[in-house]
Amino acid sequence: MGFVKEFKEFIEQGNAMDMAVGVIIGGAFGAIVTSLVDDIISPIIGMATGGIDFSSLAVTVGSANLTYGNFIMAVINFLIIAFVIFCMVKAMNKVRKPAEEAPAPTCPHCLEEVKEGATKCPHCGGAIK
Ligand SMILES: [Zn+2]
Repeated sequence: MGFVKEFKEFIEQGNAMDMAVGVIIGGAFGAIVTSLVDDIISPIIGMATGGIDFSSLAVTVGSANLTYGNFIMAVINFLIIAFVIFCMVKAMNKVRKPAEEAPAPTCPHCLEEVKEGATKCPHCGGAIK
C-alpha cells in the first residue's frame, strides 16, 4: 500500500500535472514553430537565396553520400527557432515586469524603504500608518 500512497502523493503534489501540461503545451507549441519554419520562413529563405533548396545539396565521397544540405537546413532551423523563442521570452518578460515592479513602501519620516505592512520603521523607529 505504501507504493500506491506514495504515487497518490506524487500526483497530488501538482508537479506531475504541471509537467504533463508543460509537455502537452510544448508539443503543441513545437508544431506551431515547425509549421512557421517549414511553411513560412523556409520558402522566404529559399526565395532570398535565389531558389536554392539546401536539402538537395549533397556530395559523394567514395561510397558515402554526405547530404550536408540537410545539415545546413537543421542549423538554420535551429537558429530560427532559437530566435523565435528568444523573442517570445523577451515579450513575456516585458508583459510581466510592471506587476513585479510595484514600488516598495517608504517611511514618511526618513524616506527609507520599509517592508509591506510594517507599522514601525526599522531605520528611524517612526510610526508608519
Ligand atoms: Zn524611517
